[in-house]
Amino acid sequence: MAACIFCKIIRGEIPSMKIFESEKTLAFLDISPLSKGHSLIIPKFHGAKLHDIPDEHLHEVLSVTKKIALAQGIQDYNVLQNNGKIAHQVVDHVHFHLIPKPNEQEGLGIGWPTK
Ligand code: C5P
Repeated sequence: MAACIFCKIIRGEIPSMKIFESEKTLAFLDISPLSKGHSLIIPKFHGAKLHDIPDEHLHEVLSVTKKIALAQGIQDYNVLQNNGKIAHQVVDHVHFHLIPKPNEQEGLGIGWPTK
């Protein structure tokens, strides 16, 4: 979709810190992280809400989310996916937040997802 900011990231028209890319899926660091390593995992298929995305484009998104959590070595984390303005969705392209929760010893956390 021409005006969609995440479609622009997919097309490389807007820079991003990519973590993973395949034919159907892209993951990149959130530009405004709630904790160190906060990433977004998105289907390349454009759809605003979860029910707009065909299963074959959605399946890999969750698998990639799991693999990034494993690769980051994090034990505690939130996976968050907002649908619609009242649910605090700002970008109308389906995305899963992977938000590592800080280890108290490491002190990596900089915020709790309040939105
Ligand atoms: O779920 P919601 O739509 O509220 O979250 C959108 C997320 O996209 C925000 O966390 C924001 O920081 C992120 N974002 C980004 N890069 C952009 C625009 C938005 O990481 N260029």
